[in-house]
Amino acid sequence: YKEQTSLIMIFGATGDLANRKLYPSLYRLFRKGLLSERFAVIGVARRPLTNEQFQENVKNSVLEAKETGNNIEEFASHFYYHSHDVTDSGSYTVLKRMAEDLDNQYGLGGNRIFYLAMAPEFFGTIALHLKSDGLTDVPGFKRLVIEKPFGHDLASAVELNEKIRKAFSEDEIYRIDHYLGKQMVQNIEVIRFANALFEPLWNNRYISNIQVTSSETLGVEERGRYYENSGALRDMVQNHMLQMVALLAMEPPIKLTTDEIRSEKIRVFRSLREIEGDEVAKYFVRGQYGAGEMNGLPVPAYRDEPMVDPHSNTETYVAGKLMIDNARWAGVPFYIRTGKRLGAKSTKIVVQFKDIPMNLYYQPNKPLNPNLLVIHIQPEEGITLHLNAKKAGQGMDATEVKLSFANTSVNEMNTPEAYELLLYDCMRGDATNFAHWDEVALSWSFVDKISDYWESTKEESFPNYAPGSRGPEAAEQLLEKDGFFWWRVR
Ligand code: NAD
Repeated sequence: YKEQTSLIMIFGATGDLANRKLYPSLYRLFRKGLLSERFAVIGVARRPLTNEQFQENVKNSVLEAKETGNNIEEFASHFYYHSHDVTDSGSYTVLKRMAEDLDNQYGLGGNRIFYLAMAPEFFGTIALHLKSDGLTDVPGFKRLVIEKPFGHDLASAVELNEKIRKAFSEDEIYRIDHYLGKQMVQNIEVIRFANALFEPLWNNRYISNIQVTSSETLGVEERGRYYENSGALRDMVQNHMLQMVALLAMEPPIKLTTDEIRSEKIRVFRSLREIEGDEVAKYFVRGQYGAGEMNGLPVPAYRDEPMVDPHSNTETYVAGKLMIDNARWAGVPFYIRTGKRLGAKSTKIVVQFKDIPMNLYYQPNKPLNPNLLVIHIQPEEGITLHLNAKKAGQGMDATEVKLSFANTSVNEMNTPEAYELLLYDCMRGDATNFAHWDEVALSWSFVDKISDYWESTKEESFPNYAPGSRGPEAAEQLLEKDGFFWWRVR
């Protein structure tokens, strides 16, 4: 792993994402020697700050992230600040000069990363200005990193993409999906393609269904305004949930290159069965949390949260059944569910294998447990394999045993933060773990049909789940009618 050289311009430098994720992640790269002495950061935001004040903020966010090290001061000295209104042309001229000076001072070779960490309505404007005001006119590489949400639906995503494509080519655009930076999401490929135990079984002959869950205990917090227009479907399913499904379902790529992996993922999106109109009610369930209690404390209903319409029809929970109509997956449902204010914070994947053709250990009312492969994504990171083995003692009864691997017990250090891996990938020009435009477009067109139907039909049962619960009852029935249930595994 080599040291990387570049000028990183962060738009939205005083924001929550920059402070909580980007500065601590850059520091970890610096501490590990992956960010060379030849790097500089320009923070851009509205508020007036001096370089010194900005550097102080950066140091504080590194310390708040519980990072320690004796070179935090030195790290922060690479940070500069420009107070800037992203809609004001004149301001880009100053920014350009500042970038050129730092380029010379640190010997950055004209390599530039523009990281857009602010409200999405500005993404297009900034990209256009970067080009028209000459900031992208550099001898080195230029890359645009862009946060979610990438559009609100297919039409707005196309519009945004057209704007940024005027300034950057597809291979210079890094669309963040931070789930793709998570260790265990990256591990899906390795588990599948590096194991003789799984690779031959990874199809509809041996797998009965796959369940992907991402649950949160938090409510909507202060994000009511954004969330009202988004909901769980746009906020979680269009990007993170569908990305995990694509990694689980894709064909083995010819090689582990960006283009090959992305093209296999795109083929999964193309094989997703389209669901529209009344069909949506058969495949998807929406939920919204009511008032209740969590950990002994009262919590408000979604409709009573700040900036939320008291009659809101926005979903804070989604469960769905996806069918991938290709030769490998015909007949195998991929169930997904995600929501806020649920009983546990957990992201995991359960792969349920089919029953063996003849069960020699059959006992009435006591079916054999199916084999399960559980991939724990967060907060635990690891794999559990559920097998059947002989019960200790007399007789030949079968009982379930679990083989577990926890990532943390092997890697002594904390596993790297998703943003740390993604920032480093961007610096070295590896876009594999970022979303390609075709993936974004196909997943929006899938999700749009569901939101169209939901927007045209009010959900009378809202609120339909209690804080701290497992979500709405209808999500249980979604699987029951196929003869399955959501696995409660640890
Ligand atoms: P935030 O509101 O905390 O920060 C916004 C930043 O943009 C501030 O630095 C502000 O000064 C700057 N800004 C706003 N208007 C400006 C203008 N006209 N000119 C110049 N600067 C301006 O937002 P955030 O939570 O950091 O989110 C930023 C982006 O990251 C959003 O797209 C969000 O969806 C995405 N995101 C955030 C998180 C998170 O954990 N916060 C997670 C995933 C994605």
